[in-house]
Amino acid sequence: MGEFDLITRYFKRPATRSPLGVGDDCALLAPAPGMQLAVSSDMLVEGRHFLSTVEPARLGHKALAVNLSDLAACGAKPLAFTLALALPGVDEHWLEGFSRGLFALADAHGCELVGGDTTRGPLNICITVFGEVPAGAALLRSGARASDDIWVSGTLGDARLALEVFRGTIALSAEAFESARARMEQPAPRVALGQALRGIATSAVDVSDGLIGDLGHILAASRVGATLDADATTALIAAEAPGLSTEILRTCALSGGDDYELVFTAPASARDAVEAAGSRSATRVTRIGRIEADAGLRIVDAAGAPVSQRFGSFDHFV
Ligand code: ADP
Ligand code: MG
Repeated sequence: MGEFDLITRYFKRPATRSPLGVGDDCALLAPAPGMQLAVSSDMLVEGRHFLSTVEPARLGHKALAVNLSDLAACGAKPLAFTLALALPGVDEHWLEGFSRGLFALADAHGCELVGGDTTRGPLNICITVFGEVPAGAALLRSGARASDDIWVSGTLGDARLALEVFRGTIALSAEAFESARARMEQPAPRVALGQALRGIATSAVDVSDGLIGDLGHILAASRVGATLDADATTALIAAEAPGLSTEILRTCALSGGDDYELVFTAPASARDAVEAAGSRSATRVTRIGRIEADAGLRIVDAAGAPVSQRFGSFDHFV
């Protein structure tokens, strides 16, 4: 099968929301009047972002999910995406599964594949998503203010738990491992919550490299500090993990990475509005800390005592 047959067979579908999709030199997008385009790219490299053992359908899901998560963090509504793919060869089993997982998530979010590039090479997947957001309404990292609450969506730490099981450093029951592994391989981008938080949240970021590191981006951009409740975050681990030390649980929840949840800030006066945004988007939201004027991040336990453990966020170059 040649390059163009492959594209037609697995990636070309009629464009319905965009004026022009796959097949020409450019795709054409038509954001609604008064909307700004929100654009983000994420690349997935085998061995670094996913294991070679992952089911192709789950990989297709994840490749788009991590990109939709960036749109969610900005409060943008998904419109379309492009797919740049390097493949070692034509593996129809892989292409069928990958495209099935990819399009299932794309359809669930009304996000259309409008173009891309396909080449031979070590397996590499790069997606660029395009979303729309009312002009001036995008959620940014820079809006947090002293005394704002810090909130997080969904669950934390499960992807890292699954990774540690794969690495052989911890053990989980078969059931707990399957649930953690599903969180690692098929994250749910919080797209509806992001849009529901427009006009309520003062800042937002999605958790890809770990809560502490990603919250750190908000603190730096907003020039503020924060106190974070470590026990409130470990309570958000979904998998049953009896017997694991507090230190391991804190590492997973606070600096695990691959969570694709939203961490965001909002004034205390907006607590009801945040809860309502969570209900409207059927997404759990939990308060885990508070923004402060003093720079730096202070991590405390439920009793308010400082947590001495060191945490690093995921960094590809250290
Ligand atoms: P060009 O040479 O003009 O860059 P290509 O020959 O690479 O175009 O691709 C042909 C068409 O197929 C283009 O519309 C391109 O956007 C689309 N395309 C290529 N690869 C993919 C892919 N993996 N997924 C979706 N569309 C793709
Ligand atoms: Mg090309």
